[in-house]
Amino acid sequence: ISKNKEQLQQKVEEVVENNRHYAKLGNLASYIPVLTEADPTQVGLSIWTIKGESFNAGAYQTRFTIQSISKIITLILALLDNGRDAVFKKVGMEPSGKSYNAIESINCCNKPFNPMINAGAIAVTSMIKGDSPQIKFARIMNFFKKITKSDNLELDERVYLSEKRTGIRNRTLAYYMKEKNIIEGEVEAALDLYFRQCSILVTAKELASLGAILANDGVDYETKEQIVPAAIVKLVRALMVTCGLYNESGEFAVKVGLPAKSGVGGGMLAIVPGKFGIGTFGPALDANGNSITGLKILENLAQALDLSIL
Ligand code: GLU
Repeated sequence: ISKNKEQLQQKVEEVVENNRHYAKLGNLASYIPVLTEADPTQVGLSIWTIKGESFNAGAYQTRFTIQSISKIITLILALLDNGRDAVFKKVGMEPSGKSYNAIESINCCNKPFNPMINAGAIAVTSMIKGDSPQIKFARIMNFFKKITKSDNLELDERVYLSEKRTGIRNRTLAYYMKEKNIIEGEVEAALDLYFRQCSILVTAKELASLGAILANDGVDYETKEQIVPAAIVKLVRALMVTCGLYNESGEFAVKVGLPAKSGVGGGMLAIVPGKFGIGTFGPALDANGNSITGLKILENLAQALDLSIL
């Protein structure tokens, strides 16, 4: 076993080094101005097994904003708060085949295609319960801490304000959805909550830990507490396979074959059910808004360790 551990650690270091050069081919997200301040050459990888062991390399402790990976966590919370029927009455379950912020994000039944694109995620966030915006955000933050097993999470105020100031497309989608009766409560309050959830700082290691819990059917790998019901984990993993990487989800399923979710902050989360969670960090993005080094690292790891579930 210790030989296996040594080999896995070596592999983790190797894939980070071998894929570093791909960062040159990507670009930082610039539509949220503060995100252009990141160092595009950074690359990090972390694996957490469901036995609680971790294997790490590169910039695995660097903090970055979680962005779209937050959509998984708020979806789980909204499902716990409202139940599956109420949530999917307002949001669909089909891949959109379009970019994460496309104007054509609402399908012919007046629903956003799925909870992983921005429109669907804003609608989901508007369903989270709480008597005030402050209580809602505190509930989100506490749940993020619980599911990543990290007390250190905090908001990056600068990224939050930068996106709040410039998020015209998200505002457009949200107001349109309000007209269609998809957004619960006030539009600006839902948007503010969404911009905040996207600006929570995480590390690749924390993403991997969250991944390990989702790989372990929702059970905390240390305390054995069932944090998320297994049926919700299954649903979320399915949506990650079909919609997690926007209009690159199909190609990713062919090349990697794992439930995954990306964010424009450069993070990527992948799940190997029954085995481990993987977190990657590399802020240089491809044209679809996915981390270019993250994609390559996951492709290499999936091949080397035969990880595809498909
Ligand atoms: N906060 C970002 C937005 O709404 C998230 C998008 C992403 O990570 O893909 O545009």
